[in-house]
Amino acid sequence: MQRGRLIVVSGPSGAGKSTLIRQLLDAIPELAYSVSATTRKPREGEVNGRDYIFLTREEFEKWIKEGRFLEWAEYSGNLYGTPEYRVEEFLRSGLSVILEIELQGARKVRDKRPDAVMIFVRAPSLEETRKRLMGRATEDSEAMERRMTTALTEVAAREEFDHEIVNGDRDTARSDIIETIMRIIKGEVDAKRA
Ligand code: 5GP
Repeated sequence: MQRGRLIVVSGPSGAGKSTLIRQLLDAIPELAYSVSATTRKPREGEVNGRDYIFLTREEFEKWIKEGRFLEWAEYSGNLYGTPEYRVEEFLRSGLSVILEIELQGARKVRDKRPDAVMIFVRAPSLEETRKRLMGRATEDSEAMERRMTTALTEVAAREEFDHEIVNGDRDTARSDIIETIMRIIKGEVDAKRA
């Protein structure tokens, strides 16, 4: 059985990553999603085990000590991490795995797994990022400002990635990312470092 590919999707909050990933999972059966663990409180409609594994800080810290994370990071006051076990299981079974993670975590995966393919998703402009964050309205203004500041740092890091998807026109972004991932799965493109 050919091992699947590890694919990291990162980019500023508000870039539209989650929607694109949902579309990808619908379109490509050879793709699995890695459900992250987090200490963030569930948002309206989020389901434990599907959107995230929701942990207390104590539980999360225990998982860190036990070495259960492929990577983890603190983002906007909460901890987020990728449980390694499921990712390995998927890859071994031949499925490619998508991680949707922020920049620090993406860098850790790149260092640990040089063959991971790194995709950066961003909105066409920072103004658009702000608009999308505001439209989400699940954050208080302080949390939104924190996310906006982080977004500025994240955009500056886009050159570290293998591919960039500019999420302006939704249909174009959708077909761009599907095409990119299909090529990765077929082995037609590699990580720059692999
Ligand atoms: P949100 O709270 O909006 O769901 O996610 C905040 C940020 O955390 C997003 O940029 C998301 O990609 C990132 N994130 C989600 N899961 C993980 C993870 O397992 N590890 C890391 N490093 N970041 C994650």
